[in-house]
Amino acid sequence: MSDKKTALVISAHAADFVWRAGGAIALHQSLGYEVTVACLSYGERGESAKLWKQEDMTLERVKKARKEEAQNAANALGVTDIRFLDLGDYPLRLDRDAQDQMVDIIREVQPIWMMSHSKWDPYNTDHMNTTRFALECRMIAQAWGHNPGEKVLGAPQMYLFEPHQTEQMEWKPNVFLDITSVWDKKRAAIECMQGQEHLWNFYTNVAENRGNHFRRNSGGMAGGRKAEYAEGFEMIFPQTVDELT
Ligand SMILES: [Zn+2]
Repeated sequence: MSDKKTALVISAHAADFVWRAGGAIALHQSLGYEVTVACLSYGERGESAKLWKQEDMTLERVKKARKEEAQNAANALGVTDIRFLDLGDYPLRLDRDAQDQMVDIIREVQPIWMMSHSKWDPYNTDHMNTTRFALECRMIAQAWGHNPGEKVLGAPQMYLFEPHQTEQMEWKPNVFLDITSVWDKKRAAIECMQGQEHLWNFYTNVAENRGNHFRRNSGGMAGGRKAEYAEGFEMIFPQTVDELT
């Protein structure tokens, strides 16, 4: 394990990390972090409609194409450690083996912070099951009795990234991250997602709107920080601070 600061993003499908957390990932890579991205599936069945509309498409070809896209997107964000667990999608198979694999990854990475989906997503249960799974694996990684002798996990914050159709997901941001300096990288990663071109401008608009909220919440008209693009996150755990700011 290197001396670098580390973070772990757990993405249900191969593209989720790009739309929802690409800015946070690129920003922290540029700050010297090693951000590991774990894709539980390729989104091969449920999030690859454009590919399935092509003739003679097979599950293996869709998986290969989605893996390439996700790998290219990770490269665009500066990520060198992306893992594909290939657990299947719609539905994800989050069984005991998957849990063991993820706990091993968490203990290996020892992330300062973790990130996953919203707690609730009635449109896509893979997403909300991933969050539950991530929290469960975080808990197991903290247990001294699990694989005794390994380094146990501390208490990394769990950030929930912004879902699609925000208001339906009971998701409420309490952190805005300025991603203006890495926006070009996020847009380049977005454009790697050839199978979901209909979302490119949608997520550009989301980043612009969150940039507005960043300005509003960092001082508004009285000295608000200029941010053109931002991402919102919801924290699960309380922050521990020495001074209120
Ligand atoms: Zn997804």
